[in-house]
Amino acid sequence: MIQAIIILKIHNINKAVFQLKNMDEFIPYATQDISEEDIKEVVNTLKSGWLTTGPKVKEFEDSLCNYLGCKYAIAVNSGTSALDIAVKALNFPEGSEIITTPFTFVADSNAVLYNNLKPIFADIEEGTRNIDPDQIRKKITKRTKAIIYVNYAGHPCDIDEIKKIARENYLFLIEDSCHALGAEYKGIKIGNFADMTILSFHPVKHITTGEGGAIVTNNEELAKKLKTLRNHGIDKAPSERESWAYDMKDLGRNYRITDIQCSLGASQIKKMDDFIKRRQEISKKYNEEFSKIDWIKTPDTKYNVKHAWHLYTVLLKGVDRNNFFEYMKKNNIGVNVHYIPSYKFTYYKRNFNISPEEFPVTEDVFNRIITLPLYPKMTNEQVERVIRLVREYKQ
Ligand SMILES: *Cc1c(COP(=O)(O)O)cnc(C)c1O
Repeated sequence: MIQAIIILKIHNINKAVFQLKNMDEFIPYATQDISEEDIKEVVNTLKSGWLTTGPKVKEFEDSLCNYLGCKYAIAVNSGTSALDIAVKALNFPEGSEIITTPFTFVADSNAVLYNNLKPIFADIEEGTRNIDPDQIRKKITKRTKAIIYVNYAGHPCDIDEIKKIARENYLFLIEDSCHALGAEYKGIKIGNFADMTILSFHPVKHITTGEGGAIVTNNEELAKKLKTLRNHGIDKAPSERESWAYDMKDLGRNYRITDIQCSLGASQIKKMDDFIKRRQEISKKYNEEFSKIDWIKTPDTKYNVKHAWHLYTVLLKGVDRNNFFEYMKKNNIGVNVHYIPSYKFTYYKRNFNISPEEFPVTEDVFNRIITLPLYPKMTNEQVERVIRLVREYKQ
């Protein structure tokens, strides 16, 4: 009898623990989606004999070109490396300026600094958080050589306007599409507008190679240059050599990516259409539900773009962002803030005299923004839980 009661109690405790766990299940803001097929591809590569700079790198690069409809892709070991050699390939004299957004991951302006050039920030638009073309115009000087624009959250910038500014001022364009694989501007996929477009395959992005990145371009000369820059500036890869001789023409890097990673990437990209579709479904649901809440402003989507929905961010109105952040965190939701403006970091403050007042929109958006969970394998139940928790928030 006593035994029976104890067993019953243990059973109840287990049930209670199980329910608690269920309730507390952590929902990250983003995560990868790896299938059995992906794993098989990686294992096959491990058994193949080619671990780096082999056929899988070429296959992944070709699949990127196919998907985007562009001519050249150069895969490297991270999006940051891709940004670095994209800037380097343009070979600007020291002291040149490159205009970019402060409301991005710090890799963009860092890539300018790696090359001994000066990043100049321009303020953003509130609704898309993208760089504001009018603000770019205000920052152009005789030393301006290029613009790095970032398609924030997967929403393409006002690309026609940026191209016009570039044409009028003889500037190069680097597009950071680390958020925007699969996005379209006026019916054309990103990757076909700037001189070079940057992609990242970090696990939170649309497709992953663990770490990894790429530059895509339609410019043959730049493509050739980038291939040497990812490999120490050496003119011929071992497979292209007739004999032992090779030359080092520029001070390049070792930014090569492995075949192990590229076999994962080549397998992942096959699922891009499904990934984007699911991201759109979830964002649509969020937009519908959150537009009914008066203290939330949902993000804008302009009529002439296809949004790739890397991030779902909202702006809070009359609600303390940090309190709301803590509330969501306590409920095991992996909220985040994208981004801390680059000029706010200690390194930038120490080295540059940038006043936050120059960037009123960035400052305001930064103080009110929060990123909610969004990733392809997020279930409807998880989406509902996020929506319910937001709705139940009491100030
Ligand atoms: C992720 C990201 C990068 C850097 O990519 P890594 O692959 O992590 O080096 C650069 N810019 C933006 C906007 C990003 O989101």
